[in-house]
Amino acid sequence: MKTAIYKQVSLPKLNNLKPGLESTCLKLMEEAGELAQVIGKFRGLNGEDTQLHDNEVIERISMELLDVAQVAVSMMFVLEEQYGINIDEKVDEHIDKLMKKGYMVQHKSGE
Ligand SMILES: [Mg+2]
Repeated sequence: MKTAIYKQVSLPKLNNLKPGLESTCLKLMEEAGELAQVIGKFRGLNGEDTQLHDNEVIERISMELLDVAQVAVSMMFVLEEQYGINIDEKVDEHIDKLMKKGYMVQHKSGE
């Protein structure tokens, strides 16, 4: 039987901000845009000559991706603390959905 591989990333709750649903959503779009920009721009998709080496490009892409992940985590804290959502339950539902759609063939618990 195949066992699913998980990537676990632990990111902090930011403690110098007062985030809300709208502000985190807007920031998520902003960071997603920066990720797309660094991929497009530095991959030369805009027709400009790229000034960075491939390894620098991948470094920038990695950092922008973590910005996206950080804001997603911040939004999870907002949903939990301001709207009573249990993210752990939502993760289970999410994985069930992935399995139903055929993206995964077995749950982590491996029953
Ligand atoms: Mg960014």
